[in-house]
Amino acid sequence: MAASVPGSTEGKFVVVGGGVAGVTCAEQLAVHFPSEDILLITASPVIKAVTNFKQVSKVLEEFSVEEQPSTTLESRFPNIRVIESGVKQLKSEEHCVLTEDGGRHVYKKLCLCAGAKPKLICEENPYVLGIRDTDSAQEFQKQLIKAKRIMIIGNGGIALELAYEVEGCEVIWAIKDKAIGNTFFDAGAAEFLTSKLAAKKSQAEIANKRTKYTTDGRKKVAQSKASTGNIGSALGPDWHEGLILKGTKEFSHKVHIETECEVKKIYHREEFRISKKNSLAFPQNGQKPSVTTDNEIWPVYVELTNGKMYGCDFIVSATGVTPNTERFLFGNNFDLGEDSGLKVDDHMCTSIADVYAAGDICSAAWQPSALWQQMRLWTQARQMGWYAAKCMAAAASGDSVDMDFSFELFAHVTKFFNYKVVLLGKYNAQGLGSDHELMLRCTKGQEYIKVVMQNGRMMGAVLIGETDLEETFENLILNQMNLSSYGEDLLDPNIDIEDYFD
Ligand SMILES: Cc1cc2nc3c(=O)[nH]c(=O)nc-3n(C[C@H](O)[C@H](O)[C@H](O)COP(=O)(O)OP(=O)(O)OC[C@H]3O[C@@H](n4cnc5c(N)ncnc54)[C@H](O)[C@@H]3O)c2cc1C
Repeated sequence: MAASVPGSTEGKFVVVGGGVAGVTCAEQLAVHFPSEDILLITASPVIKAVTNFKQVSKVLEEFSVEEQPSTTLESRFPNIRVIESGVKQLKSEEHCVLTEDGGRHVYKKLCLCAGAKPKLICEENPYVLGIRDTDSAQEFQKQLIKAKRIMIIGNGGIALELAYEVEGCEVIWAIKDKAIGNTFFDAGAAEFLTSKLAAKKSQAEIANKRTKYTTDGRKKVAQSKASTGNIGSALGPDWHEGLILKGTKEFSHKVHIETECEVKKIYHREEFRISKKNSLAFPQNGQKPSVTTDNEIWPVYVELTNGKMYGCDFIVSATGVTPNTERFLFGNNFDLGEDSGLKVDDHMCTSIADVYAAGDICSAAWQPSALWQQMRLWTQARQMGWYAAKCMAAAASGDSVDMDFSFELFAHVTKFFNYKVVLLGKYNAQGLGSDHELMLRCTKGQEYIKVVMQNGRMMGAVLIGETDLEETFENLILNQMNLSSYGEDLLDPNIDIEDYFD
């Protein structure tokens, strides 16, 4: 790699972002071009590497994400060079990026993988926390230790996990939908899960969590990051496992859900006092006695659009993310999606020549398969980073490349409320209109299975619990076989469906 000015580089491939998308992209480029230097520019001192990758079925995949020092990546791939500095500007006409440390890095092909940041209900309010990276998760844990009551605002994956994981602290959970987990579930699945919120966690769950408590390595890494004041990568699925999410009291769950409402106004203690408004005590809903009293004075109060007012120690804003694009927009005419991500086509190219994008920063703007939708998830960050590298390599060598198979069918496996959750295809009948049917099988406390059918074909499925059906259903969705003649047998627990379709 030629470096004419100190801190400046010239390389064929430059990747921005040390999260799952950026690291996967850089790794793949390094494999495609072993004699070429690949430059990875990232604002955080740790990178996120995919480990223990397992292809569970054709499309479903499972893996862990490890935070590693960038030197580990460099030693695994000697042709990757990591530059630890934030990009402050992209000069696409000159084919270069400028970094905070004064560097100027010229590229032939660039992939932007700078992720996304939490959308906060209120900026610069010390009582409103967003959770995105190791630092913010640790800050949350620190505040929770002293808390008697918190409010969670939002209804996506993070809110779901928090409501279940937080112990020893009252939780008021405000959602704008009728049922919890709207991003992932219908009302039936939500009801199945809600019963878990009222139950005590099993000893096994607690033990499992304690053994995974923060390692020294992770603490060191987090400290060095804090001192840089930079933007870290998004946490992954097991983000809460290294943290003890426990408030001041000795109980497992105490969650009250306020549905169909949003935050109207946030009052600091003094503003609340002057307003002469009243706040509510923690609703008992026939549960155990309250740990807080009616006359509690809270640091912050939240007025909801349903007219209710609650005081709490702090608020967690878990209302989605916004793509991290601002550093790249100045002077560059990017096409942006409705969610303000960088629009990418079916080869992960943005609207600017030689600039690709992958992961949370991008908005998929191609005509998607009838069974796929973009969601800002770990799995898609990995798949997009991998596919972007393949497209960049093909374009550099003048080859053509077909859309990757992983974009044929939406597939996601995760855990909510300690249940295994598999989501396939149009699992919530997204975009299917009213012309579809649902089939359900539910055993309380054990499993919840829902399939979405259209014209006799399976279009999607939600599998909660150890159902063992994911592979069979994945095949049935992918091959779009007409299943009309099977009717209800499809979910009959007495029929071994795997044998049926063998
Ligand atoms: C609390 C939490 C829980 C989650 N749980 C799940 C889950 O259960 N399952 C799931 O699939 N997904 C989950 N997600 C989402 C998942 O973590 C993200 O979709 C995924 O990590 C996105 O990867 P990425 O590489 O696109 O971005 P990120 O991981 O955000 O990485 C972005 C990288 O870009 C760098 N960067 C940013 N700006 C600049 C700049 N200007 N210059 C240089 N570098 C820059 C950052 O430092 C970082 O290294 C969760 C997210 C959060 C926050």
